[in-house]
Amino acid sequence: MEKPYYLPKYSYPLIDLHCDVLSKVRTGTSIINGRRMGHCDLPRMKKGGVSAIVFSLFVFPKFTKEKNYRKKIDKQLNILQNTIENSNGEMKIALSPDDVRSNFHNGVASIIIEIEGLHPLDDGLGLLQKYYDMGVRIFTLTWNNSNAFATSSKEAFKNGIDPGLTGLGRQAVAEINRLGALIDLSHASDQTFFDVFELSKTPPILSHSCLRCFKNSSRNITDEQLILLAERSGVIGINFYTNFLSSKSMRYVTIDTIVEQMQYIKERVGVDVTAFGSDFDGISHLPKGIDDISDFPKIIEALESNGFTQDEIVKISGGNFLRVFGEVSSKQ
Ligand SMILES: [Zn+2]
Repeated sequence: MEKPYYLPKYSYPLIDLHCDVLSKVRTGTSIINGRRMGHCDLPRMKKGGVSAIVFSLFVFPKFTKEKNYRKKIDKQLNILQNTIENSNGEMKIALSPDDVRSNFHNGVASIIIEIEGLHPLDDGLGLLQKYYDMGVRIFTLTWNNSNAFATSSKEAFKNGIDPGLTGLGRQAVAEINRLGALIDLSHASDQTFFDVFELSKTPPILSHSCLRCFKNSSRNITDEQLILLAERSGVIGINFYTNFLSSKSMRYVTIDTIVEQMQYIKERVGVDVTAFGSDFDGISHLPKGIDDISDFPKIIEALESNGFTQDEIVKISGGNFLRVFGEVSSKQ
């Protein structure tokens, strides 16, 4: 038996709730062996002590014909399956919080699968079950584009109208609840957010967003939304994109800016809603001091030196997400 590789770094699972690497590679070989470009691969995950990560399946609507949306998603799933098969047992798909925990104890990296934006599933509800059966556990209702299910934050801000969930979207929320999968509201419009909060039987998440009081971006949530999220015991993965983290020029955005957001959440509603949602391989600018996923230990150190207790760091690093994941999957 080879030695587990994550255990020496942290005694708890460190989880990143959003990474776009699957839409950036042609095969999984570079994920296993390392890439010269980008932010995430297995060697750098090991270095960063990251034991679980959410890989998103994503189709850029502008550059893809609608009839090819599904093909693209399936291709990315295929790349992921090949990656896992060729990883020599170092990576596995996690379908539940128990999978994440047992993989962690065995020194195996967990991959949790998300579909970012339901536009490839526009035909209807049946595909939710199909992709759930293929391992998807997080459904992000929209990307920047609105779709047959819901209004996106970007289009609501741009057009000044925000109808929120459509009739089909309402049915989708019920279906995702029934499946026991997570509803992700990053990229969703404010009205979509409130509609889901009214309808969903389980706590929603925001996998990769920030706070609007730091940067007035449609991708970020207001204090009112943060309070609702805390009341429903949901979770928000803080995005590392400089342009979401702060309204300051990116030169001044550092690891401390991430910590400031987490500090604000802690003071406002407590630490139980905070998580990491880097958006690695999906963003063009990172805070000073972070080059890629191997730099996670610097963020953990910054939390420690800013007074976060070990218990709080365990929750932020993955405990909070595993709590929600457990609650949602047990509602099946
Ligand atoms: Zn995104």
